[in-house]
Amino acid sequence: MSQRSSVSDKNCRSLTLATSNAHKIREIRAMFADSGWVVRAAPPELPDIEETGATFAENARIKALAVASATGEMTLADDSGLVVDALNGQPGTQSRRWAGEHASDTDRIALLLQRMADVPDGLRTARFVCAACVADACGALWETSAAVEGIILREPRGNNGFGYDPVFFLPDLGLTMAELDENKKNAVSHRSLAMRQVMTWLTCIQCCEE
Ligand code: IMP
Repeated sequence: MSQRSSVSDKNCRSLTLATSNAHKIREIRAMFADSGWVVRAAPPELPDIEETGATFAENARIKALAVASATGEMTLADDSGLVVDALNGQPGTQSRRWAGEHASDTDRIALLLQRMADVPDGLRTARFVCAACVADACGALWETSAAVEGIILREPRGNNGFGYDPVFFLPDLGLTMAELDENKKNAVSHRSLAMRQVMTWLTCIQCCEE
C-alpha cells in the first residue's frame, strides 16, 4: 500500500501543503495539530499546477514534487475525489472539474444526482479516495492512499464539510459526511486515514534521524 524512499532534509519539522483548497488545509491542519509538525499553506504566488495524472496517486505526486522543487521545502500533497461504481468510477480524478472549471459544490452535486437519477438504491455504492504524497526538494518521495466506503443519496443532507459530503452517506454511522462535525469527519474520512499513515511515517523518519 505504501512505499518508502529516503528524504534528505534532516532538520525538517514543517510541512508545506500543496493545495489551495481552504477546506483541505483546515482539515489537514486539524489532523496534524498534536503531531509536532507545523503544516503551512503553499505560498499563494506559486503558479497553478496542472493535474495531468491518470490516477489520484499520480496527481498527488505531481503536486508534491512541483511545490517541493519551487519552495525547497518538504511538501505534502493530497489528491482526492469521489469514485462512483454505477458511473464506472466517475467523477474520480475529475471530481473538482467535471461540472466545469468554475462550477460550485452545488453544481457538482446536481450533476452527480442527475447522472444517478436512474440508478437503483442497491447500486449506489461509492468511495472517497485520498492519495497522499510527501516529497522533498531533492525529489525523494513517500506515498500512500486510503478510501472510505459509502452510498450516494438522492438528496443532500447536512451543512458541514465540502464537496460531495452532503450526498455521501456512511452506513455504519447512519449519517452523511456533511452531518458529521469537523472532529468526527476528521476521525473517519479518507483524508484522515491517509494522513494518519503520513504521520506514522513522519514519526519513523524523525526517530531514525534523532
Ligand atoms: P483535488 O483538489 O483535485 O484533490 O479535488 C478534489 C475534489 O474532490 C474536491 O474539489 C471535491 O469536489 C472532492 N472531494 C475531495 N475530498 C472530499 C471530501 O472530503 N469531501 C467531499 N468532497 C471531496
